[in-house]
Amino acid sequence: MGATHLHCSHCATVQPIRFEPLLAGEPSLGTNVFCARCRRFAFTLIKPARFYCEICDEVQPGLLERVELGLAPNEIGVLLVCGGCFDGKTMLYTGSGQASGLSAGVGGS
Ligand SMILES: [Zn+2]
Ligand SMILES: [Zn+2]
Repeated sequence: MGATHLHCSHCATVQPIRFEPLLAGEPSLGTNVFCARCRRFAFTLIKPARFYCEICDEVQPGLLERVELGLAPNEIGVLLVCGGCFDGKTMLYTGSGQASGLSAGVGGS
């Protein structure tokens, strides 16, 4: 998947991702994803495509939805959506575009 950035709601800008194992020494259990700048916790990835959804209160498969940001041809965002309740969790960015100031628009619908 190769996502390296997320939209941090605290910084209100796109920031690099900081990964930390859920349990030190046990990377297979899952990975916590933080904003690398302010260290705000974003979400937990459990195995490659699963994460803990606080709405479902259980581990769900993560669906990755491609979103056209409409800024430039290479400005493609990837939205992580819960496979159980379809709640949009966070915007992941696979591109390296300068997308500061973007509003992710997560949570509507
Ligand atoms: Zn942040
Ligand atoms: Zn859910």
